[in-house]
Amino acid sequence: MSFSQLGLTPELLSALSEQGYETPTPIQQQAIPVILKGQDVLAGAQTGTGKTAGFTLPLLQRLAETQPSHQKPHAIRALILTPTRELAAQVYESVEVYGRHLTLQAYVIFGGVNINPQIKRLRRGVDILVATPGRLLDLVGQKIVDLSQVEVFVLDEADRMLDMGFIPDIRRIITKLPRQRQNLLFSATFSDEIKAMAGQFLNDPAEISVARRNTAAEAVTQVVYAVAREQKRELLSYLIGSGNWRPVLVFVRTKHGADRLGRQLQRDGIRCAVLHGDKSQNARTRALNFFKEGSIAVLVATDIAARGIDIDQLPHVVNFDLPSVPEDYIHRIGRTGRAGMQGESLSLVSEEEIKQLAAIEKLLGRQIPRSTEPGFEAGFTLSTPSPSEHVRHSRHHKRKPRVRNPAGHRRPKTANTGRRSSGKAQQRR
Ligand code: AMP
Repeated sequence: MSFSQLGLTPELLSALSEQGYETPTPIQQQAIPVILKGQDVLAGAQTGTGKTAGFTLPLLQRLAETQPSHQKPHAIRALILTPTRELAAQVYESVEVYGRHLTLQAYVIFGGVNINPQIKRLRRGVDILVATPGRLLDLVGQKIVDLSQVEVFVLDEADRMLDMGFIPDIRRIITKLPRQRQNLLFSATFSDEIKAMAGQFLNDPAEISVARRNTAAEAVTQVVYAVAREQKRELLSYLIGSGNWRPVLVFVRTKHGADRLGRQLQRDGIRCAVLHGDKSQNARTRALNFFKEGSIAVLVATDIAARGIDIDQLPHVVNFDLPSVPEDYIHRIGRTGRAGMQGESLSLVSEEEIKQLAAIEKLLGRQIPRSTEPGFEAGFTLSTPSPSEHVRHSRHHKRKPRVRNPAGHRRPKTANTGRRSSGKAQQRR
C-alpha cells in the first residue's frame, strides 16, 4: 500500500517523499481514506504510530480541495487541540512540513509565552490552528479567535487531556464550534470517561485502532535492573558513560527528583538538561532543542513534560523511577523504537518499587527480563507474580542476556569505583 493509493494529492505526496516516507503506517492506512470522506473518527493510537500524519494529511487535503463555505476572512477552518505545549509545537511542525506545497496558513498557540505576538499573527488570518486549551479559551474570550467557522475539529491525546483536567475546557471549546463539522478524536486508551465524551460529540464515527505499542513494540528491548535506591544515580552515570549512550531520555516521577538528578549527572560530567512543568516555556524549548541537536546527551524529564516528545534516533529510554500509573510506562517506552528503529528501555527498580513493577508486567502480560551490572548488585531480587502464559511464549524472555559495554569500558570493581564518579563522595555532597 502506498500513499498515492490512499488518494492523496500530488502536493502532499511530494511533501511525503521529501520527508523520506515510503509506506503509510497502519493508522495512516486506516484513517486517511475515512477522513478524506469526511466521516468522524474515533482512533486508538499512541504517539509513535504515525497518528499525526494520519490526521494531518487528510485534513490538509480536505481544506485545500474545498473552498471555505463562508465569506468571512480570517476564520479558522481546522482546530487541533493537544494537551501540552510540546505536542502542540510538534503537531504544528508536522502541519507545516506536510502542507509545504499548499497555500494554507497554519499557526500554533499555547500558554507560558507572551500573548501579544500570537494576537498579532492571528489577526492576519489562519486556516489551521493548533492549540492547547487554556490559551485558546483566553483568546476566544478576548474575541481574537473565532471558532464559528471550524470545519474539522481534532482532539489529540484525549486521555492525556483527561488526566490533566482539561475536559471542562474542552466542553467549553466545543460549545464555540459550529454544529456542522467533522470530528476526529485520538486517544491511546479508552476509559469510560473518554468513551462518554466521544459518544457525546462524535457523530457516527469510524472506529479505528492500531495495536498498542506494548504488543506491537517488538522494536523496543526492555530490561529491568534491581538496584538500591541510593545507587540508582551512580549506576545510571556508569551505564551512560560506559555504553557511550546518547541521546538518552531519562524519566523521573517528580519535578524535584528531576532537578536533583539533573544536578547530580552534571556533577558526574554528563551534559544534561531537565524538562518539567515548572520550567519556563523558553527553558523547555531550549532544553528540547539542545537535546534534539545533540549538544546535550541526556534529557531528564517528568511524564507530562515528555508527553508526545518526538525525537528521531532516540535509542535509549531510562526509567529512573517507575511511574505510578502503569500505562505511563508504555507511553515512556514509546519514545524509542520508532519508525522501525531498534530501541532500548531500561528501568532502575528499587525494592520499594516492586509493586509498581508487578502492575506494569500485568499490563504488559509478561515479565520484563532482569539484568544486573557487576558492582551494582542489589541485596534483593525483583520477584513479581508471573503473568502466566505470556511469559513462556515471550520472545523477549528467551533472549540471551544482553552484552553491555560495547565500547570496551572497564566496569567498576566495586560499587563505588565507577568510571565517572566516586559514588560515596558524590552522594555525600
Ligand atoms: P507520531 O505517532 O505522529 O508521533 O509519529 C511518529 C514518528 O513517525 C514521527 O517521527 C513521524 O515523523 C514518523 N512517521 C510518521 N509516518 C511515517 C511513515 N509513513 N513512514 C516513516 N515515518 C513516519
